[in-house]
Amino acid sequence: MPEEDEEIVAAVVAVKIPSYVLETRLGDCRRAAGIRREALRRITGREMDGLPLDGFDYASILGQCCELPVGYVQLPVGVAGPLLLDSRRHYVPMATTEGCLVASTNRGFKAIAESGGASSVVLKDGMTRAPAVRFPSARRAAELKGFLENPANFDTLATVFNRSSRFGRLQGVKCAMAGRNLYMRFTCSTGDAMGMNMVSKGVQNVLDYLQDDFPDMDVISISGNFCSDKKSAAINWIEGRGKSVVCEAVIKEEVVKKVLKTNVQALVELNVIKNLAGSAVAGALGGFNAHASNIVTAIFIATGQDPAQNVESSQCMTMLEAINDGKDLHISVTMPSIEVGTVGGGTQLASQSACLDLLGVKGANRESPGSNARLLATVVAGAVLAGELSLISAQAAGHLVQSHMKYNRSSRDMSKAAEEADRPKKC
Ligand code: ADP
Repeated sequence: MPEEDEEIVAAVVAVKIPSYVLETRLGDCRRAAGIRREALRRITGREMDGLPLDGFDYASILGQCCELPVGYVQLPVGVAGPLLLDSRRHYVPMATTEGCLVASTNRGFKAIAESGGASSVVLKDGMTRAPAVRFPSARRAAELKGFLENPANFDTLATVFNRSSRFGRLQGVKCAMAGRNLYMRFTCSTGDAMGMNMVSKGVQNVLDYLQDDFPDMDVISISGNFCSDKKSAAINWIEGRGKSVVCEAVIKEEVVKKVLKTNVQALVELNVIKNLAGSAVAGALGGFNAHASNIVTAIFIATGQDPAQNVESSQCMTMLEAINDGKDLHISVTMPSIEVGTVGGGTQLASQSACLDLLGVKGANRESPGSNARLLATVVAGAVLAGELSLISAQAAGHLVQSHMKYNRSSRDMSKAAEEADRPKKC
């Protein structure tokens, strides 16, 4: 290490230079990360040899994605595919350390493709933010609620809201009250961005505007949790947040047998007992599925989404029905709150951007803003459909195998008993 850097490390260890100023003071992000790492080593005595330092563009995260970097975590990316969805083929990148996840999703893709493909529909596309404000009385809070929800005021609110972005367009406001506190859930379209920044800026415009007519309004927080971001909440399950998507496929009887190694009746029965009744018994909120979050999170990490938003993005109801006189399987996943973007946040980083490119949804869609993000949401739903199909099949097949084994074991036991019974005679 150069002498000059030695001095800086010593100053950081002695807390004479705050670690967080290194990037701006040195003007070299890699050097700053190296110095911080060395200071950490001296303070803790831990080498962290397995955590690489070189091979990452630290300038790309400065002021945007991660502070105080000392290295980067490596994650394997597997690719499952093709997913045949809405007549297009997708190769889906999944970053995970869970064995069998990519393979299992891949098997689901095969079953879907051999049955003619899946199709999807985007029912809603809007990001939400709900500030909390307090008034001297519930009556005053209700007055603002009435103002915001009056259709005659929508155009004015939209003009104010839309000022801060070319893409953020107000769709509506829904209010809830708790005593004299008012929660205003603004929903807006956000183009190809996931949209949290965009919606927050629009909401701030409206709060500033309202302050004139409602001077007694006390803004408690730009986010009052009625939004609801990164927390399990019925509002997202019922009203939707981000993209609300339904994806479906009809899996042919022979594919269920050949690829999924089970039968339609066993799948339908398992889905009712596990994903519907079992989740109801558990008091699930949006968790009427086998493992949607496995697939959602792996794609989120690979494509630079906010992994914490898997909480609501993984809300999913999986439905299975026997159709065509009980021969074939209709499967659907209903996912009301998939929060994804193809611009902003972690999507611009090199690895994540490469994964978005593989899906053909890298960056902004210039001809039709928002269609890249919507396509990504449908791919997430399509992959979840495949993951559900494969895991439910494995569990149904496992049940079948167990029943067979039980039968086999009992017949083996019987023959063993017969053998033993025969032995004395043989001797
Ligand atoms: P988020 O709101 O998801 O946090 P950012 O605000 O960080 O996202 O990123 C969105 C930025 O990208 C905005 O500055 C926006 O003007 C720009 N942008 C360019 N093209 C698009 C597009 N097609 N859709 C959405 N945003 C876009």
